[in-house]
Amino acid sequence: MEIFKFGGASVKDAGGVRNLASIVSERGGRLVIVVSAMGKMTNLLEKACEAYFRRDGRVKELFDEFRRFHEAIIDDLFPDARDPARALPREWLSALERLLDEEPSLSYDYEYDRVIPFGELLSTSIVSGYLAANGLDNRLVDIRRYLISDACHRNANVDLDISRERCREAFHFEDTSRYVTQGFIAGTRTSQTTTLGREGSDYTAALLANLLDARSVTIWKDVPGVMSADPKEFAKATVIDRMPYKEAIELSRFGAKVIHPKTIKPLQNKGIPLHVKSFLSPASAGTVIRDFDEWIPLPPVYINKENQLLLTLTPRDFSFIAEEKLSHIFATLARYKLKLNLMQNSAISFSFCIDHHPALLEEFVRELQRDYGVRYNDNVRLVTIRHYTEEMIREVIAGRPVLVEQRSRTTAQFVV
Ligand code: ADP
Ligand code: ASP
Ligand code: MG
Repeated sequence: MEIFKFGGASVKDAGGVRNLASIVSERGGRLVIVVSAMGKMTNLLEKACEAYFRRDGRVKELFDEFRRFHEAIIDDLFPDARDPARALPREWLSALERLLDEEPSLSYDYEYDRVIPFGELLSTSIVSGYLAANGLDNRLVDIRRYLISDACHRNANVDLDISRERCREAFHFEDTSRYVTQGFIAGTRTSQTTTLGREGSDYTAALLANLLDARSVTIWKDVPGVMSADPKEFAKATVIDRMPYKEAIELSRFGAKVIHPKTIKPLQNKGIPLHVKSFLSPASAGTVIRDFDEWIPLPPVYINKENQLLLTLTPRDFSFIAEEKLSHIFATLARYKLKLNLMQNSAISFSFCIDHHPALLEEFVRELQRDYGVRYNDNVRLVTIRHYTEEMIREVIAGRPVLVEQRSRTTAQFVV
């Protein structure tokens, strides 16, 4: 059994759904197809959810944009108004419309997890209907009943033991060889919907592969594989044909957006290979990520993490930044659920880089200011060069002022 995952870019319009069907039709054998929301629909739903929560008048306008986007695709794929494949997507649209008409509760994260999953519910109902209408028999699985998580809304943790049992019941392959299901969403034992963190569909594919002992996972992207840089930023980027798990987990954690960082562990744990391939050129080999017996030479890989906040803390009483102070700083970061992207300390200062959200500057920084003098630079970027060469460093840093620099044997990082 194999898992195919199709992201938003691959199903951004009716042509994308037809292309997905063509890729699927080429593959015999048992297949689980994991799909994320179409195009940029999750971003649009986030705006709608915010408007809903704040009860601002834009909810209806944003919902209409969401509805029109899907209706255009449905009309294109199922032109006959009586086509039964139109029923389920329409039901989901009505359910979302009703929800946005209700009074929101007091919890934003709870409401987020009620609103945002409609992107995936719509996309999978359309994809499943289109495959069936074109002779590609499949079952649509509502993953919320089988992938069971805690109620940590917006960043839920999946319970592997319960989910394993339930997923094996759902994906039994007794009366079909294909399933279509949602990425990124899950459900609690009491049937609340949860989400696994933005861009989490790759992670769903990896979890299902682990739970169902898949032979491989293929994630279909708009790039020819994992490359030596984001080709949208660096024209000279080249495809890396083979990569060990360890390297892939490092690259994704440093910010290479092509794979979600949580994707690798469930696959590595069971030795399941991950293929990253282009939906624009399905016959090309792409990248395979797995364990290799031999050493794999890798080119310098350039990763650019934008929108970073660089903070430098200095104790107000001129005391050392020693273990006690560091543990207090780390505890504060954990409490705000912030991930450190880089850190560096000296006798009386500690500098670190985190993803920037404007709200942070108010709450988090104010809290730190009780004990520390706080200097910050917002809107900086963190440049990482894995397997660096001096030439590559010169090329990507090229005259930009460097605020922090750090090098290990394999990795050079610069805050610029
Ligand atoms: P999905 O459609 O699955 O959501 P994403 O947009 O999340 O796909 O990921 C694919 C994008 O990742 C590419 O379009 C590319 O711009 C970006 N990207 C960033 N770093 C890399 C890299 N090292 N190799 C390939 N693509 C990269
Ligand atoms: N649709 C979700 C998002 O945009 C999940 C995903 O695409 O992986 O974050
Ligand atoms: Mg994505």
